[in-house]
Amino acid sequence: MKNELVGISHLFYARGWSLATSSNFSARLDPGHILITASGKDKGSLKDADLVEIDLMAGLTSSDSQIKPSAETYLHAELYRQDPEIGAVLHTHSVYGTILSEKFAPYGRFEFSGYEMLKALRGVLTHEHTEIIPIFPNNQDMTALSKIVLATLAESREMHSFLIDRHGLYTWGRDIGEAKRHIEALEFLFECECRKAYNMDSERKR
Ligand SMILES: [Zn+2]
Repeated sequence: MKNELVGISHLFYARGWSLATSSNFSARLDPGHILITASGKDKGSLKDADLVEIDLMAGLTSSDSQIKPSAETYLHAELYRQDPEIGAVLHTHSVYGTILSEKFAPYGRFEFSGYEMLKALRGVLTHEHTEIIPIFPNNQDMTALSKIVLATLAESREMHSFLIDRHGLYTWGRDIGEAKRHIEALEFLFECECRKAYNMDSERKR
């Protein structure tokens, strides 16, 4: 499992989704424990030793107390606690996700429909699906942010992800592979939407 998270970290860094020590990645070890990236680590050179074990009930249980878990660990832990089916949570800070989150923050959500790529999301069988991605205001207080996220999640079990305004994307899956697929599909869709909007703006200016 450490290998898989380290591999994802290097891959997402290379794709430009996790630059400058941003992003964090976690996976469930057993019903009560997760592994999560340590705080402030460069995701392009992440190592096995940069992953910290967390007890979902009691907090940090790493044997090495010198390693601090990610600042956003609380939000990850709350997602695992709320939904026992979640096996992995991945969080990226991409350019396109950031642009889109700012543009649509006033509406509190963004919707995709008609894209074949939507079928990469768990349970989606047709491009005719409408995927809603809530957008929450950013907050350095993880307890406050988690409260808003969990309340929205409790209302819609169909949700696959959410964006935080000018911050980044959170998605999850039953395992690391599914969560990775979700990140790749969503980042693809964010890029499509941003490029489309940019092209339309350029057309208008001509
Ligand atoms: Zn973040």
